[in-house]
Amino acid sequence: MSTAFFSHPDCHAHDMGAGHPECPQRLDAIADHLLATGLDIALEHHEPPLATLEQLQRAHSVQYVMELKDLLERVRDEGTTKALDPDTIANPHTWRAALRAAGAAVAATDAVLAGRVDNAFCAVRPPGHHATRDQTMGFCFFNNVAVAARHALDVHGLERVAIVDFDVHHGNGTEDIVAGDERVLMASFFQHPLYPGTGAVPMGTNMVNVPIPPYTRGAEIRELIEQMWMPRLNEFRPQMVFVSAGFDAHREDDLGQLGLVEADYEWITRRIKDVADRHAGGRIVSCLEGGYNLSALARSVAAHLRVLAGVAA
Ligand SMILES: [Zn+2]
Repeated sequence: MSTAFFSHPDCHAHDMGAGHPECPQRLDAIADHLLATGLDIALEHHEPPLATLEQLQRAHSVQYVMELKDLLERVRDEGTTKALDPDTIANPHTWRAALRAAGAAVAATDAVLAGRVDNAFCAVRPPGHHATRDQTMGFCFFNNVAVAARHALDVHGLERVAIVDFDVHHGNGTEDIVAGDERVLMASFFQHPLYPGTGAVPMGTNMVNVPIPPYTRGAEIRELIEQMWMPRLNEFRPQMVFVSAGFDAHREDDLGQLGLVEADYEWITRRIKDVADRHAGGRIVSCLEGGYNLSALARSVAAHLRVLAGVAA
C-alpha cells in the first residue's frame, strides 16, 4: 500500500497576517509531527505543479478565474496585501500558493487514477471548501477538491465521484459548485449554527448534509455518519472518493465547538476507506481544509494518514 503526500514551499509563503488562524505554521506543525512520529517515511513525498487556468475553470467561472488572476498578480507585482473579505487576505505569494494547492489536488488525482499510488493527501493551503463558483471567502480562493473532482470526471471520464467533507464548517463553496451535478455525491457534517450559516437546507438531491449542534461529541457524530452517510455512499458506488479534510471539529480547536478527538478522525477515515475499498479500488484523494489548534491539527492529520497508509498506530 502506498500513500502520496503532496506539499510545497509555495503554500507556506501565503500569509494572511499576524494572528490569523489560517497560518503557515499549520503546515510546519504537520510536517514536524510526521517527522517526530516516523510516519513521514511511510509516505511518498511529492511536490505538485501549478494548476492551469483550464483546470480551475472546471469548477469556477471563467470570469472569476480571470478576475482573481488579475487581482492576485497585481498584489504580487505591487508587493502589497489585499483583503478580499475580512478573513481572506492576499499577499504577494497568494497567487502561486492558490495555484499550487489546486495543482496538488489535480496531481494527486492523476497519481491515484494512474495507479502510481493507492491514495493521496495534500497538505496545502490556502484551503478551498468555502470558495464558490464565483466567490472568494472564508480563507479560500480556489476550491481545490471541486477542481480535482471535476478533473476526475471531465478529463479521466469517471462517472461517479464522492466528496466527503468533515470540516467543522459547512463546505458551502463545494456545495455551490456540485449541487445538481448528479455525477457527484457530497456527504458532509458541520456544526450548525456556525460560519458560514449555510447547509441546513441542501441545494440538491446529491447533497447529504448533516448539521450538528454545538458541543456534540464523537460517539454521536459517529452514529450520525453511520446512519446518514454510509447508506447513501454505498448506494452511490463512487469510483473515487475525495475528502475535504478539515480538523477543526477537534475538541481543542477554538474555531468550532464540536468534540472530536484523534480516535474519531481515525474512525471516520476508516469508514471513508471502507467505501473506497468496496467501490472505488481504494482510490482516495484527501485535501487539507481547516484545523487551527496546531498540536491537535498535527495529531489528527497523523491519525488520518495512518489509516490511509495502513500503518498501525
Ligand atoms: Zn473549517
